[in-house]
Amino acid sequence: MTISIANHRLVDVPFNESPNHGAAFATGLPDALIIHFTAGGSAQSSVNWLCNPQAKASAHVVVGRDGAITQLVAFDTIAWHAGASSYGERSGYNRYSIGIELDNPGRLSRTAAGGFVSYLGTTYPAEQVIHAVHRNEQTATDWLAYTEAQLATAFELCTVLCHTYLIREILGHEEIAPGRKVDPGPAFPLDKLRQLLIVRGRDADEPSPALTSPPTPAATITAIPAASARGYVLANKLNFRALPRVDATKIAAPLTSGTLVDVLDQQSGWYQVRSNNNVGWVKAEYIKTATGP
Ligand SMILES: [Zn+2]
Repeated sequence: MTISIANHRLVDVPFNESPNHGAAFATGLPDALIIHFTAGGSAQSSVNWLCNPQAKASAHVVVGRDGAITQLVAFDTIAWHAGASSYGERSGYNRYSIGIELDNPGRLSRTAAGGFVSYLGTTYPAEQVIHAVHRNEQTATDWLAYTEAQLATAFELCTVLCHTYLIREILGHEEIAPGRKVDPGPAFPLDKLRQLLIVRGRDADEPSPALTSPPTPAATITAIPAASARGYVLANKLNFRALPRVDATKIAAPLTSGTLVDVLDQQSGWYQVRSNNNVGWVKAEYIKTATGP
């Protein structure tokens, strides 16, 4: 899918206008993207709710698990997705940001039978579940994985938005409303998205490279949600931690020599890897990858 924008609307994407919106953004805005999950049962039910005046809530777009987008509010208009929110010097993020909702029920519970169930009562197989520590929490819990199609669409959409608007922040709802919100949660590769598009961080006095460099080829973007590389463990026992720090909690038993892992991300000498549906961090020097050292 190739995403493009004309007159603040996505081209060839259904526009299902929500009445739940404010005025036009002020000059120079929007300059932020806020990532959410819907906590809903389907993309269509979330679109319906966000177009219902009683909801008093909306978002600019909803991305389904099949990767299809529905737009609800034009990108030059303030949508109601952030609620009470603050980050750094700013508060009230609706007036700064484009809201992107991904269809996902959020945190799952374990059933007595060893399965996984959403708060809506839908059950999911273990292959669709990610066991990981939320950035605002200390212990690992279970989250429904986003689909590859959904992540590919989200990454491409964010790339196109960064090239269309002067985007300098990409944040999760969980970051602008911590304690109140947990979306998009650890199943969404938010840090990876930021590294890709907001290379220099959120300094207001430096333009994002995304504003001047050409769009990342779609092939690169669609590759992101898949494992960037497979690797295997070189050490006899490799600690598997919640965060890329030697003092971080161990989230599972140490990985043993020869264990295959999917390398998802990297950060200053650490790899974020998936093994048996656990996602955590290991020292990169103990992982042999096809492309790495
Ligand atoms: Zn949200």
